[in-house]
Order: sequence, then C-alpha cells, then structure tokens
Amino acid sequence: MSFTGMKIWLSAVAILLSANAFSQDLIARQAPVDRKLKSVDSLLIQKQLKLEETYPYPAFDLYPDWNKTSVHNYAGVKLPLEHQIDLTGFCMPTTNTRITSKFGPRRRRMHNGIDVKVQVGDSIYAAFDGKVRIVRNQGRRVGYGLYVVIRHNNGLETVYGHLSKQLVKEDDYVKAGELIGLGGNTGRSTGSHLHFETRFLGVAINPALIFDFTKQDIVADNFTFRSRKGSTSSSTTLVADGDGVIRYHKVRSGDTLSRIASQRGVSIDTLCELNRITRKTILRPGQVLRCS
Ligand SMILES: [Zn+2]
Repeated sequence: MSFTGMKIWLSAVAILLSANAFSQDLIARQAPVDRKLKSVDSLLIQKQLKLEETYPYPAFDLYPDWNKTSVHNYAGVKLPLEHQIDLTGFCMPTTNTRITSKFGPRRRRMHNGIDVKVQVGDSIYAAFDGKVRIVRNQGRRVGYGLYVVIRHNNGLETVYGHLSKQLVKEDDYVKAGELIGLGGNTGRSTGSHLHFETRFLGVAINPALIFDFTKQDIVADNFTFRSRKGSTSSSTTLVADGDGVIRYHKVRSGDTLSRIASQRGVSIDTLCELNRITRKTILRPGQVLRCS
C-alpha cells in the first residue's frame, strides 16, 4: 500500500469509527428519555402509542373504515347482536345540566340527539378518549352548524353540534375531557345549545341512556347495545330505550297504516298503540312512526 493509499484507508477508518461513536452517542442520549418515559405512569401512554401505531383508527375491529364524509356512513353494515360499551373514563361534554330537547321523534323529523342549554363560548369537552373524525360546518338550513364528530376507543361515536368554535382538527387524537370546541348557536338552531349525539355504528342511541346531565354522571359503567338478528345499520334504526333497537318509519305519500304494518312486520293495532293514533288517523308524509 502506498503512503497516499494508507492515508485514505486510515481516514476512512476514522470516519467509520467516529460515525459509530456518533450513533452510539445518540443511543446513549436517548436512553434516559426512554427510562424517564417508563418511570412516569407511562404504561398507559405507551399502551396508547402502541394502539395508535397498530390500528389506524379507534374501534378498528368494529368499523369498516375511517371516512370524513358524513356522520352516518354505515348503511348496510351488519350490527352485532350484542356489544358492551365501556363508559368508565368518561367526561361530561358540558357542565351545564338543563336539557331543552329530548331524543326521539319530533313533529316532522327525528331528533337524533339531546339538546343541552349552553351559552355561546361555554367549554365543550370530549366525552371519551378517541380520534376526531369530522370537523365541519353544515349550513343554517340543514343542521349541525359547526360540528365535531369523534370516534372513541370504546366503539361509540359522539357528535357535538351548533358550536361557535371548533378547537380540534380532523385526525387529532383527544383525551376524555379535552376542550374540543365552544358552545354556540350555528346551523339549524334557535337559541344557543349543545346538540349532542351518541352513536354506535351509526345507530343513534338516546344519550340519556348513557349520560345523566342533571347528575353530571354516567348512568352505569357499561352500556349494552343490542340489535335484532341480521339487522344492519340504517338511519332509521335508533335505540331509544334500554331494550334494544327501535325501528321507525318515515311516512311517504300514499302510505297507509296497513301498508306500513305489513312492510315493517307489525300489526296495525301495535302501530296505533305505539304512536297513540287510531285506524282513522290521517298520516302526513314526513311523519315519523314508531314501529317496534
Ligand atoms: Zn338537537
């Protein structure tokens, strides 16, 4: 080997050695951080990080996809016969306690959530840990106004409507109790309030079965979702009481009680009883009838 050759060879070795030392140094510098992470109550943090790495979105095993197109995007998705939803680790979405409108059929349309009186600017919090799916604005005539949809690790999705300000972005991970927006009066709303929905695979569940706003607490530690065998998610499937899925029928022009009864597989008498109507009642198109 010539002298120049030797010099090149030596400097190459030196570079390699120093590069190695440099990366060793990086590793050495990183180690205490890892140890620190472990020493904080970070088992939970690490579990969460792992979860986020492994699964692209919360409740990965239940939901077919992660889309940002609409609140209910699960038409035709097969519902599990029974699914237990863990409610521990909750946070009340608002500290306000007054319900101004309940869940259920309204005169002409369905009310898929519960309305809680809030003032413009009041803090609105994420109900559970999860990932923000939708942050959008729906105009004055159609509905939610400024709204946020979160999918939670426990399988629930929650909707927060009529906000004056949204404080999260789509795909953000949030913790229960994290500030996600401010109360308002946007969209189809008269008087500031929070429109709050709880959904499971798109099926609207009466939030009063899960949250007690007056007591500022959950109703129980778990909520058991039940559905009929073979039923799929649709916008007319709602859970209004604890016993499972309740079906509603939106009256179209030309509908008669007997046609609806045979279509929905119930007797006319049951329809009358459930809706407090008689066989002579004239049905209005758009009217919502309870069918089970
Ligand atoms: Zn509402």
